[in-house]
Formats: sequence, C-alpha cells, structure tokens
Amino acid sequence: MAEHFDFLVIGGGSGGIAAANRAAAYGKKVALFESNLIGGTCVNVGCVPKKVMWYGAQLAHSLADAPDFGFDVELKAFDWEKLVANRQCYIERLHGVYHRRLDANHIKTIAAEAKFISANTIEAANRRYTAGHILIATGSRPTIPSIVGAEYGISSDGFFALQRQPKSIVIVGAGYIAVELACMLATLKSEVTLLMRHAFPLRRFDSMLQETLLQALHDVGVNVIRGAQVVAVQKQGDKIAVQTDTEEAIKAEHLLWAIGRQPNTDAMQLQHAGVAIDSSGFVEIDQYQNTSAQGIYAVGDVTAKPALTPVAIAAGRCLADRLFNNMPDRHLDYENIPTVIFTHPPIGTIGLTEAQARERFGDNIKIYTTSFTAMANAFTQHKPPTAMKLIVQGEAEKIIGCHLIGPGADEMLQGFAVAIKMGASKADLDNTIAIHPTSAEELVTLR
Ligand code: FAD
Ligand code: NDP
Repeated sequence: MAEHFDFLVIGGGSGGIAAANRAAAYGKKVALFESNLIGGTCVNVGCVPKKVMWYGAQLAHSLADAPDFGFDVELKAFDWEKLVANRQCYIERLHGVYHRRLDANHIKTIAAEAKFISANTIEAANRRYTAGHILIATGSRPTIPSIVGAEYGISSDGFFALQRQPKSIVIVGAGYIAVELACMLATLKSEVTLLMRHAFPLRRFDSMLQETLLQALHDVGVNVIRGAQVVAVQKQGDKIAVQTDTEEAIKAEHLLWAIGRQPNTDAMQLQHAGVAIDSSGFVEIDQYQNTSAQGIYAVGDVTAKPALTPVAIAAGRCLADRLFNNMPDRHLDYENIPTVIFTHPPIGTIGLTEAQARERFGDNIKIYTTSFTAMANAFTQHKPPTAMKLIVQGEAEKIIGCHLIGPGADEMLQGFAVAIKMGASKADLDNTIAIHPTSAEELVTLR
C-alpha cells in the first residue's frame, strides 16, 4: 500500500528543502526524496565549497599585499589538503544542520531516487508514495561534451573531489564556473589555461564587465586562449593533451569542463505523469511554477530559470505559500535578480546590460561609468581593477542596470539591489549621503 502525504518533494537541494520546510511550517505532512547528499549542489559541490576556496584565494591576495603595509611576512607553504579537509568538515556540519531542521519539522526524508509511476504516485526504493501535490526540484548536472577523450576531463564536481592542488589545469568554458575557478586556482599558483570559444568571458553580461574581467584574468596570471574550440583530448603519460582547432595541443595535469549544466529530468519517468520538458530537457513551467501536469510543480535548476540558489529557495517558498497558506497569487518575480560572480576581483550585477537596454529603449537611456583603483590597493604592487556602470532610463532616470567589478563588489550589490527592485532613480542615489572612504560611495556620486 502506498503511503499518503500532502506534499512530496523530489530533490533535497536548495529549492526542495526550502519548499518542504515551508510546507511543514503550515502543518502539512511532507516527504523529501534525496538520492545523494542532503543540501544538493550548492552545499556539496557548488556555492559553499567554491566560496571557501574563494576566501582562501582572497587571503593569498591579502598576504601578497601585506609587505606594502609594512608586514614582514614569510610565506612558507600553502596546504591545499588542509583547506579541503576543513572545507569538508564544514560541509558535514551543514548536513547536520539540514537534517536536524527537517527532523524538527517532522519531514520524512527518504534517501533514494524517486520516479513517477503516475501523476500522483512516486516510487523510491521499491516503496510507493502518493500526494495531491508533488514538487520536482532535482537540479542539474555538469555537461560533458561528446568529443573524443572527453572522459579524461573532470567537471566542477570532480574539481571539488581533488585532494591535491593541480600543478596545471586547462579549463574549458567562459561562464560563471570557468572564470571563478580560473581566478581562484591562478591566485593559489596553479598554472591555469582558460580556453574560451568566443572573444570574451561572460558573454551574457555587460561588455564593461567582460572587458575588465579579461584584464583581471591576465593580472592574476591566467593564460587566456580566446576563439578556440576543443576538438580532441588524449592522455599522454601523466598529462592530458587538449587539442584545439587553432593551437598546438595544450598539455596539463588536469582538464576541467565548465561548459554549462543540464537538467536532471531523464531518470524520473516524467512521461508517466504527463510533465512536459523543453528541447533541452528543462521542465516547462508557468509563472506559478505549475508544470503541464495538474498538481505537479518544478523549481530551481531543473527549470530554465536563472540557476542560482536564492532563486530556487524563493521559488520553493512562494510555491508552498501559494499551495498551503491560502495565497493564491503568490509567485516569484524573476525580474531584476542580482547575482555575484566570485572572481578576483568579484563581479556584482543586476538588471539590463547596456546592449539589452539600447535594444529595448533605443537612445532613451543614459550611461554613467567610472573606473579606479580602490584605496586598499593605492600603493600595493597588485592593483585589481574597479569599474562601475549605471544604466538609467527616461527623464526620471530610473535605474535599469547596475554592473560592478572590483574588490568589495560582492558585498556592495545587495543593498543597491533592494533600491533598484523598489524602482530607484539616479536622483535617489544622488540624494543618499556617501560613506567615505569606500568604493561603494562612487555609486552615489556618479557624474
Ligand atoms: P540542487 O541543489 O542541484 O538539488 C537537487 C537535488 O536533487 C540533488 O541533491 C540531487 O541529488 C537530487 N535528485 C536529483 N534527481 C533525483 C531523484 N530522481 N530522486 C531523488 N533526488 C534526486 N548559486 C549561487 O546562488 N551562488 C553561488 O555562488 C553558486 N555557486 C555555484 C558553484 C558551482 C560550482 C555550481 C555547480 C553551482 C553554483 N551555484 C551558485 C548554483 C546553485 O548551486 C544552484 O542554482 C542550486 O543548487 C540549485 O538548487 P536546486 O534545488 O534547483 O538543485
Ligand atoms: P554558464 O552557463 O555560466 O556558462 C557556460 C559557458 O560554457 C558559457 O560561457 C559558454 O560559452 C560555454 N560553452 C558552452 N558550450 C560550450 C562548448 N561546447 N565549448 C566551449 N564552451 C562552451 O555555465 P556554468 O557551467 O559556468 O555554470 C552553470 C550555472 O551555475 C551558471 O549559469 C550559474 O547560474 C550557476 N552558477 C552560479 C554561480 C554564482 O552565483 N556565483 C557560480 C557558478 C555557477 P559561450 O559564451 O562561448 O557561449
């Protein structure tokens, strides 16, 4: 006999856990299926281990700057294994936090892969479960290309499993993961080649960010090869030879594919439930996270929405509010989502790029820019760039885009994102007293 619940959640990552906890808070009987580690991508092989490594690299930059501030520091060694071990201990602590919270909310966690038997029945580990509401929050996995020898490369998942620091690495891609890992590894003194098929990294972002990041990649010592495609990969002794269409083979200890991710929809027997997917495999949803099947919903990376943890969490919570707290119009507004790319220096960005703004509003926009060296680096050897762009529209000069790169941009954006989401204008920023001396003050004094 099947066990009946109010809400079944498939996937114990950012979106699934958020929706399950919110539904349980409304007194609903909830079960959560997770076939791997609790916490999903973000906690285990995403945001969390990545940010720990980023902090490590930030410290390396500070240590390099220390002599210019009068410190006589002697750097003896960097212990990768220790950093990785401490990182993993922290992640295990987080597993405990998640499990305790789920238990406290009386959510049944089922450590097994779930698949659909029908639109209201799930099977996992040979048992059946039914519910009137089922959420698909199964996330995504790294894409590995289908070229000869691709299997010699690792993905970001494989990167986080490395117990030894790579001496040399070729990273293929030009998106979030490629540039974050390239900057971090080069800062920690791995020999990094970043291979991108177009001329600039982060092609979907504002051109100012692309150009400044390219400069920053060179500055931290990344060997950037642009306009090249990998055509074959070979194992040659303890090296991997990466053959491109433009260069001689590049040899390195590791090859890392960072060319995007694909949704986890293939193993769930979605056809048994009538859930439609698009041509790339993403679950199709409407603005309320409804799929094509009555009573089945999807949130997070398994949908074609921005693949960010806070987006998955917000969508999951909105859905639970709508289904179980009598809030029929509750849904996530996907406009103006702020995002940070943890490069060195970091990038913070929200809203339209200049190209998008011109396409939408023609000449009815105005651009404010500035670039400078942050005071922290006024007299240090290493001078990470800072650049800022504000895009405003119409006579009211409503802010429709804000793009930042530079030390502190990661922490700077959140507050400005609140103002922009509320509809702030350039005058609102101008009317705010600057905080001096900071980099952020430049945003309220742009001319
Ligand atoms: P996931 O977190 O992937 O969770 C899905 C879960 O479902 C997984 O645990 C999986 O095992 C489970 N599952 C799949 N199929 C089944 C099944 N059939 N049965 C049972 N369980 C199943 N975002 C940020 O906002 N900031 C960052 O700094 C950031 N850094 C990142 C760095 C990297 C290297 C990567 C890869 C991603 C990063 N992201 C970041 C993106 C973020 O991790 C994802 O957007 C987020 O984890 C998506 O959450 P989700 O719930 O949709 O899916
Ligand atoms: P992205 O979508 O960010 O980037 C994929 C990159 O791969 C693009 O630059 C694209 O290049 C390139 N690419 C695609 N196909 C090929 C190919 N066949 N050969 C060479 N290059 C190719 O994906 P990521 O894997 O970097 O990250 C996945 C998602 O995870 C991100 O989009 C983001 O939402 C999330 N994430 C968020 C982070 C954060 O919040 N800080 C950090 C890491 C991930 P091109 O421009 O040439 O098309």
